Amino acid sequence: MIWAGLRLYYGLRLNKMNLIEESFQRLFPEEIFHYQHKLEYNRRLADFNANVRLHHNLLSINLNLQWKDIDDEIKIGLIQSLLLKILKKRAHTPNLELYHNFIKKIPILTPKDRTDQLLEAAFRRVNLQFFSNQLELPNLQWGQQSFRKLAYYNFHDDSITVSTIFQKARTEVLDYIMYHEMLHKHHQFNHKNNRSSFHTKEFRAAEELYPNHQALEQEISLVIKQEKKLARPKPKSIWNFWR
Ligand SMILES: [Zn+2]
Repeated sequence: MIWAGLRLYYGLRLNKMNLIEESFQRLFPEEIFHYQHKLEYNRRLADFNANVRLHHNLLSINLNLQWKDIDDEIKIGLIQSLLLKILKKRAHTPNLELYHNFIKKIPILTPKDRTDQLLEAAFRRVNLQFFSNQLELPNLQWGQQSFRKLAYYNFHDDSITVSTIFQKARTEVLDYIMYHEMLHKHHQFNHKNNRSSFHTKEFRAAEELYPNHQALEQEISLVIKQEKKLARPKPKSIWNFWR
């Protein structure tokens, strides 16, 4: 009987441990867990990524397949961090602690298979000058032609992505952009109340140590302006219009 078999399978799994409910109960021991819930692993998410959705009463959590083999206690921490996000609450638990310690090690676990000559040269210069060569080489790549998100560090796959508008910028400008993202890699795990605070006081102080940082900020604004101009489609000339 197929049905009986399936039932038994699900029954056993649920008895073993329902991760979402368990995570919730450890976060909020006083509260009643009244959600329907669904936990799925999939390959579409980026490395070690995860997301959560609450639709009516259904809590769905998706985890990248890599999470499947990770210890349940760490997974509970991950699920708790997602629950806090979606329920807009704050809390501290030993599982959250475990989870944060685990993600600190993700950059060591992720493969480094993306790089670029210009970006790598910038990384190496900055690493030598400001980080005593102590920062591990992350994945490096050009992103889109973005005027707002100039660059970002993604700790899930340990990558620094830089907007293509800086492909022709002076090395000093590129180095400064790289420095900002390398600071993120360096400071990435300042978790306060389970919130990653990105531009902390410490971060800003470190940023201001960069020589000429104010002039460089201005130059960046200029690059953005110029590149925007170049990106705009050219108007047809009146002569063409009449012909
Ligand atoms: Zn930043």
